Amino acid sequence: MFATLSDRLATTFKNIRGKGRLTDADIDATAREIRIALLEADVALPVVREFVARVKERARGEEVSQALNPAQQIIKIVNDELITILGGETRRLRYAKTGPTVIMLAGLQGAGKTTLAAKLALWLKEQGKAPLLVAADLQRPNAVNQLQVNGERVNVPVFAPQPGNGVGDPVAVAREAVEEAKRKLHDVVIVDTAGRLGIDEELMKQAADIKAAVNPDEVLFVVDAMIGQDAVNTAQAFLDGVGYDGVVLTKLDGDARGGAALSIVQITGKPVMFASNGEKMTDFDLFHPDRMAGRILD
Ligand code: GDP
Repeated sequence: MFATLSDRLATTFKNIRGKGRLTDADIDATAREIRIALLEADVALPVVREFVARVKERARGEEVSQALNPAQQIIKIVNDELITILGGETRRLRYAKTGPTVIMLAGLQGAGKTTLAAKLALWLKEQGKAPLLVAADLQRPNAVNQLQVNGERVNVPVFAPQPGNGVGDPVAVAREAVEEAKRKLHDVVIVDTAGRLGIDEELMKQAADIKAAVNPDEVLFVVDAMIGQDAVNTAQAFLDGVGYDGVVLTKLDGDARGGAALSIVQITGKPVMFASNGEKMTDFDLFHPDRMAGRILD
């Protein structure tokens, strides 16, 4: 991800490298190049506009620094602004003060939710937590089984519906799971919910009902970064229909252009909290805006 954007920005900066001083025309030309680079990377237009306006404004107003040449100053500005659009600080999980922390996952089918649930469980285990995975995706026949397989891979128990225990009713399963977590002293409950291929009202309502029933400490919207501009539309639809606290970007290892990652925070106002970048259970970490910006400008 971001290979094209990285290359284009590198070329842009090369064009101003040898200059002792940047004229307004140089700044305008550079801003234009940055604009094209971002648009080609599939970054949403309003985000691009604001980004470029800020870079221009700062480049014109910047104090002449002794330590940095003009090209370095622009690179620093772009780096700062990338960190800003990616959300600034790393947003960490909020744990419940008492009782188990409940984390609910929502998103479209195929976004990588089930995989992510297990990755998150493994990551939490490494933080010293005792997570419980909950199979509240009862829509897809194979979803419960898939979560069980993933749970086994990371050695985390899975709470799944059983006869007399919420079969066919994801809200009851989620509610029961929280009770089970209390009984068995799990301190984090990760609720995997149903996804559909497209956004639909029933899906939204079910997710909203689960949310109302278990009152999660964190609702995470899981989205495939490879789906480009659609990611932003889906993110907005889930924000309106279900509501969430943070975003998880999956498939960042893909070769898509990365615009989703660069637009979603600004468009939704919600931070990206985690990033998933591969099929291995360990291909997962907190999302660090500064590191991501660094990688783009590497
Ligand atoms: P769900 O329908 O949202 O539960 O999605 P799944 O967890 O079943 O994932 C859908 C597909 O994407 C599976 O084949 C996963 O192996 C794959 N996948 C999930 N996360 C990643 C990732 O970060 N990178 C890559 N390359 N593939 C992923």
